[in-house]
Amino acid sequence: MSTKFEQIVTKESKLEKIATGFVFTEGPVWDAKIKCLFFSDIPANIMRKWSSTKGIEIYRQPSGKSNGLTIDKQGRLIACEHANRRVSRTEKDGTVITIADKYEGKKLNSPNDVVVKSDGSIYFTDPPYGLTAEFGNLGEQELPFQGVYRLSTDGKLTLLIDDFDKPNGLAFSPDESLLYIDDTDRAHVRVFNVNADGTISNGRVFAELKGEEPGAVDGMKIDSEGNVYVTGPGGIHIFDPSGEKLGRIDVPEVAANLAWGDDWKTLYITASTSLYRIKLGIKGIEVP
Ligand code: MG
Repeated sequence: MSTKFEQIVTKESKLEKIATGFVFTEGPVWDAKIKCLFFSDIPANIMRKWSSTKGIEIYRQPSGKSNGLTIDKQGRLIACEHANRRVSRTEKDGTVITIADKYEGKKLNSPNDVVVKSDGSIYFTDPPYGLTAEFGNLGEQELPFQGVYRLSTDGKLTLLIDDFDKPNGLAFSPDESLLYIDDTDRAHVRVFNVNADGTISNGRVFAELKGEEPGAVDGMKIDSEGNVYVTGPGGIHIFDPSGEKLGRIDVPEVAANLAWGDDWKTLYITASTSLYRIKLGIKGIEVP
């Protein structure tokens, strides 16, 4: 175990289960304005929130079988919705609007995870996991690929890349010069250069996640020093910016996604039926 790993997962770091009894949890995001964590329970068709003062509350039901969530620069909730095959935004008055549901006239597969760049553009992945009755609605793919997209602030949807098998978690490096995107079926993470116009280029394999234990390459986030955290067999695998594996946070259930909150050193983990948290030694990248 490296010294660098011990700076992240310190002697004081302890994994704590803070809520349980869900079906399959995903998409955590911390809302600093109201000090609560939003997260999805996909098959239950419920979006919940958790706070230290009120515990678990239902936020939205039905949720469109939401998956990945984030918050944009104006503080609005952005949700990938499997059942509605769209990315939605919750306006200040509570209205939920569609911001992306088609590419070149064809329905998206089922948007999975999403991140907002500092210029306000929205990047999301579109694998077909939501085309089943359990995780979305039974349906057919209309697009012949599983894309990664960029939605500009003026509403233009650009296909960034179409050669993934199952694109899933995605995250920018701290200076946003790099975009990391993982591929669940290939069990690896690719990294791309982010061009001035927001497109991506020069993709190369950054890390491979192997292991016999349960767990898939799914959610991914990056800390303030550029270390990459990705779910995989046995828990959360942590890599330094060069791709060297530093270690793993063991999680007793299958971890699907993660997000920092509170003081931005507390990592929340959605793992199957439960919500966990662990205090780390390095801050994550803050969400507005
Ligand atoms: Mg995912």
